[in-house]
Amino acid sequence: MTPVRIGDDTIVTIHLKNKSNGHRGHGGKGPAGKRNAGKTSEPICLLPGPVAIAESVKAAFVEPLVYHRGDEFQPLFQRVRTRLSEIVGGKPAALLVGSGTLANDAVAATLAAEKSTGLVLIAGEFGERILKQARGWGLDPHTLRWDWGQTWNLAEVEATLKARPEIRWVWGVHHETSTGVLNDLPGLTRLAKSFDRRVCVDCVSSIGTVPVDLSDVYLASGTSGKALGSYAGLAFVYGYPQEIAAVRGNGPMPQYVDVLAALEANGPRFTVPSPLVRALDAAMEPLATDESRKARFAHIANLGKHLRSCIRKIGCTPLADDAIANPSIVTFAPPTGLNAAEFVTRCRDYGYLIAGQSGYLAERNLVQIAIMGDVNQDHVDGLFDRL
Ligand SMILES: *Cc1c(COP(=O)(O)O)cnc(C)c1O
Repeated sequence: MTPVRIGDDTIVTIHLKNKSNGHRGHGGKGPAGKRNAGKTSEPICLLPGPVAIAESVKAAFVEPLVYHRGDEFQPLFQRVRTRLSEIVGGKPAALLVGSGTLANDAVAATLAAEKSTGLVLIAGEFGERILKQARGWGLDPHTLRWDWGQTWNLAEVEATLKARPEIRWVWGVHHETSTGVLNDLPGLTRLAKSFDRRVCVDCVSSIGTVPVDLSDVYLASGTSGKALGSYAGLAFVYGYPQEIAAVRGNGPMPQYVDVLAALEANGPRFTVPSPLVRALDAAMEPLATDESRKARFAHIANLGKHLRSCIRKIGCTPLADDAIANPSIVTFAPPTGLNAAEFVTRCRDYGYLIAGQSGYLAERNLVQIAIMGDVNQDHVDGLFDRL
């Protein structure tokens, strides 16, 4: 048993999986969920990070290490960047070492270097975090806030942009993971364009689960460890070097978060652990073509619908309405008579890891079930058959 720290303050005990112990691929035959349910030795991961990792990704992770300056590594590194770029409509991706928070720090650092002011949109925990990150980099943005479970109100955004010409950029979270709400990114970019303002967006839990087009976005962040179904440890920031160069000040830039330099580099600037790159490359294989992307998004959309109906059948109501929900995660209050911690423990006893103990969920008595990783309907049914 290995105790693992997940999120700010959750400690879950993960039982290391025995290699011979079952396959959990999308194409997995048989009711893997049912087969594994109740076996304490192998919990099924329905967390929004770490996510359930596919066998092909695990196999890539344990391949021999490669020197990050060697001939073999650069093509691999660049291929992952190309793949990241292709899934969002072609915007180039800077690949950095770190988790999603690092990607958002790099966005904040890039904005801070131009010394302009902006507007942060907040409708959940991760909106609050990007505001803290902006402030951490010396920015003092305006803010708009909505209740948990709400989307961005674009009419209010419009009124704010009209009233405050000093706002040069708007930064928000595309899929607010804490609530499960998917915000209207095309609506925001259309609006910002009409006012000649730029949009930055946290896509940590959206890219890889729903179609995302970043054509009209200035900067966007993502990570290997959530919606793309790999291990945490690589962060990426999308942007066009020429657009960043046009607004960036000439002052010194902290090296690790220098998005412009990372975009311009052909290969890694600093040490990159090759297992993380190989694993992300393998995780992106199912997203490599238009067709396979469509299949992956359809899988998540259908499974998400199924998950929401399962949650309703046990008498619970998803926090996000169907019309504004991202399919890959559902946040809800546990069934009557159970608090979040008790519900999480019950699922754990049945052999499933679900979220509910991070401070921001526990304090609202909410839990979350996520299907971002390598999860199929048998896994979901395996849990709800018991509940
Ligand atoms: C998880 C998450 C983050 C932070 O990512 P870490 O990998 O935990 O650093 C940021 N934004 C969103 C939307 C997230 O879901």
